Amino acid sequence: RKLADQIDTVLAENNLTDKVLVVKTGCFGLCALGPVVLVYPEGVFYSQVTPESMDIILNKHIIGGEVCTDLLYEDTVSPEGKVLPLQDTDFYKKQKRVALRNCGVIDPEKIEEYIATDGYQALYKALTEMTPEDVIDTIKASGLRGRGGGGFPTGLKWSFAAREENGTKYVACNADEGDPGAFMDRSILEGDPHVIIEAMALAAYAIGANHGFVYVRAEYPIAVQRLQIAIDQARRDGFLGKDIFGTGFDYDMEIRLGAGAFVCGEETALITSIEGNRGEPRPRPPFPAVKGLFGKPTVLNNVETYSNVPQIILKGAEWFSSMGTEGGRGTKVFAIGGKVKNVGLVEVPMGITLGEIVNEIGGGVPNGKKFKAAQTGGPSGGCIPASQMDVAIDFDNLVKLGSMMGSGGLIVLDEDTCMVDIAKFYLDFTVDESCGKCTPCRIGTKRLYEILEKITSGNGELSDLDTIEELSKQMQTSSLCALGQTASNPVVSTLKHFRDEYLAHIVDKR
Ligand code: SF4
Repeated sequence: RKLADQIDTVLAENNLTDKVLVVKTGCFGLCALGPVVLVYPEGVFYSQVTPESMDIILNKHIIGGEVCTDLLYEDTVSPEGKVLPLQDTDFYKKQKRVALRNCGVIDPEKIEEYIATDGYQALYKALTEMTPEDVIDTIKASGLRGRGGGGFPTGLKWSFAAREENGTKYVACNADEGDPGAFMDRSILEGDPHVIIEAMALAAYAIGANHGFVYVRAEYPIAVQRLQIAIDQARRDGFLGKDIFGTGFDYDMEIRLGAGAFVCGEETALITSIEGNRGEPRPRPPFPAVKGLFGKPTVLNNVETYSNVPQIILKGAEWFSSMGTEGGRGTKVFAIGGKVKNVGLVEVPMGITLGEIVNEIGGGVPNGKKFKAAQTGGPSGGCIPASQMDVAIDFDNLVKLGSMMGSGGLIVLDEDTCMVDIAKFYLDFTVDESCGKCTPCRIGTKRLYEILEKITSGNGELSDLDTIEELSKQMQTSSLCALGQTASNPVVSTLKHFRDEYLAHIVDKR
């Protein structure tokens, strides 16, 4: 923000305010290289900008018209010194932006910039040319599956709520992103908040709801602020409220803040929290599509799922389903972190391999170290070892590998990482975050953590490995919600792929 102020000041001092348009956008994806400045019409990309380098860019490039080649992001300069477009760099060239299409492009606080990139066109099309059934059929045909973790088919979920006769229905958005290392939803809300408003209005039209709730973590203040600005603008300009586009369709929405409990990302706990109660999961069935918020049929999807919806309505189901694989249509956003050069946010077609994400887009493991594994799906997911680098990533293949898509956190681990420590890290998290309502999770996570602690402190026994497997099975089959059912996944998958490391702790320390 200081750099943005610096730009504004220098432009004003040089009477350039009318000539240079400064657009303060959301995230470009290359988080490791921020702050970044992209200058048009040349389309050149300055990274890791400081007040000092900003001064040079302003005077030499913006005022003087000469590109500061030595300050450009190194991958945008060829060995011959030629400046390359950003989309030709390794980080961007295999990406396909659907959910993130406006992030880093538009000013998220200006509704006219969203409208200029086809914003609210899908809502107009649906309300004026499509029946609610048409909208559901299009989403079904697209093959869109929930991006929040479970991968449930979105159109099918909407059809369950649509067929309920109950007069009052709700739509809700899960923006309670709590996985360590995940920040996809935050970036979408910060970079393109109107897409969520439009998508939720489409879902409301499809199922017959007139009110929506977005449940956002209070730890995301910029996301909350920009979403509220967007809601106010949409209401002012007639995209929310009564009789939208003169079609007789009424829809409005509000934000509810989450207080940071990981379990509130579980759909029934989230619903309970919106209702004003302690965020604890409820048994399912009944599923929220039948009996959700305040006992009424409710469609709940996460931010990334919703952000695909307007484009599907506008461009058609075939356009979307032509991307990806049988086990996952469209694209997926991943937050890449850990031992990788290009830490950041990427959106890739489903079916891309882990190797392409880590080595090509991510730039590989730094400091000459070897790649050991990638952890996907956060505390509910598992590890994919180096031997599986060529497997196409989609919902089904990750489950076959003993991991899961989760919301899209992808942590790269190098040869120096102890996999037992990694499992312990995630379990420590779930011990803290278990809501305590059911015994298998409340006690099971604690006992599993204690066994890992025993092993890593050199007091483990071979029989501990059998206990881990038995306890994990019990937790998977008897916990009330997904948090407990999946809490042992990081342990089970590391034990499956890296058993030798567990054995090394036990045998070496004897
Ligand atoms: Fe709570 Fe864990 Fe039981 Fe879920 S599985 S209800 S988080 S104790």
